[in-house]
Amino acid sequence: MPNPSTTDSMHTLASDQEIVRQYLDRVNPPEQLSEAERRQLESQIRELMQARNARLVAHYYTDSLLQDLADDSGGFVGDSLEMARFGRDCDADILMVAGVRFMGESAKILSPGKKVLMPTLEATCSLDIACPIDRFAAFCDEHPDRTVVVYANTSAAVKARSDWVVTSSIALDVVDHLMERGEKIIWAPDKHLGAYIKKTTGADMLLWDAACIVHEEFKVRGIKDMLKLYPEAAVLAHPESPDAVLEVADMIGSTSQIINAARSLPNRDFIVATDQGIFHKLQQLAPGKQFIIAPTAGNDATCRSCANCPWMGMNSLQALYSSLLDETNEITVDAVIARQAMVPLQRMLDFAVENKLQIHGKA
Ligand code: SF4
Repeated sequence: MPNPSTTDSMHTLASDQEIVRQYLDRVNPPEQLSEAERRQLESQIRELMQARNARLVAHYYTDSLLQDLADDSGGFVGDSLEMARFGRDCDADILMVAGVRFMGESAKILSPGKKVLMPTLEATCSLDIACPIDRFAAFCDEHPDRTVVVYANTSAAVKARSDWVVTSSIALDVVDHLMERGEKIIWAPDKHLGAYIKKTTGADMLLWDAACIVHEEFKVRGIKDMLKLYPEAAVLAHPESPDAVLEVADMIGSTSQIINAARSLPNRDFIVATDQGIFHKLQQLAPGKQFIIAPTAGNDATCRSCANCPWMGMNSLQALYSSLLDETNEITVDAVIARQAMVPLQRMLDFAVENKLQIHGKA
């Protein structure tokens, strides 16, 4: 169970970390392309997308080549929920989802009539891995008096077991709303985001114990050292970062909120605690400003991410082309699970509309 104070849970955490390590060991970074190879692949992908009425939706953390291709070909670049909503609302027959697996699943849940393909089905997420449905369902069953709120970074089956699905930008509002109704909460899977929400709202929350391997590596000491070099810089942090990092942040928010802050704040320099993939959009949308990646543990044994999600990095032009050519790597979601998962997802969408909230999410 996720409570780290018990011996059993220590075993569970150790085995979760081992499973994450095993996934990471299978990650092969894509080969570098020459300029001519890149151009040829891009043109082949464009032709295929046109012939098959396919659109590319890419996450902010994917390679800049994929982001540019999505932007230039009538597709979309954004966070996971924006991607899924764009997919739902566009008239394509095929959605190419460049991101990690739960994003493909969310796209399929919101667009059951479309074929959803991914460059690779191996791209996953440490939060998803560490929240398997069997253990999670058992944990929920032990606390039937609690409302189950899960983050978007979960499998379709975990979403189906929940009462609410939330993204990082709407989580505080939803938890506030539940607290006003006197509800006690189970939160999963990200412990840092959960702790941040619990601290901010004061809600009664039981936290699942999982973390994002990218955000967990940001170090407050390094950020403080960096601030000595850039004293005028604003620190922008994603709430999946550890509490000590959030303590020194000038702004805490989802990927889209970080981009908005970089555009609207008067600072010229920004220290950014989230995946480096976002720098491509930051530089496009806030030209003339300087973005510095928040320091991580460095390239030592403890850091497998160093502000670059290895799974997001598996999305490449080559893999995208192969998947589209043969229409492989299709995402399927069991129809019953999809129907059940749609209920908490729709609850969040309706809540956002009723409360005139923007919904942005992360990975
Ligand atoms: S950046 Fe973190 S939360 Fe996002 S997909 Fe990678 S491991 Fe998961």
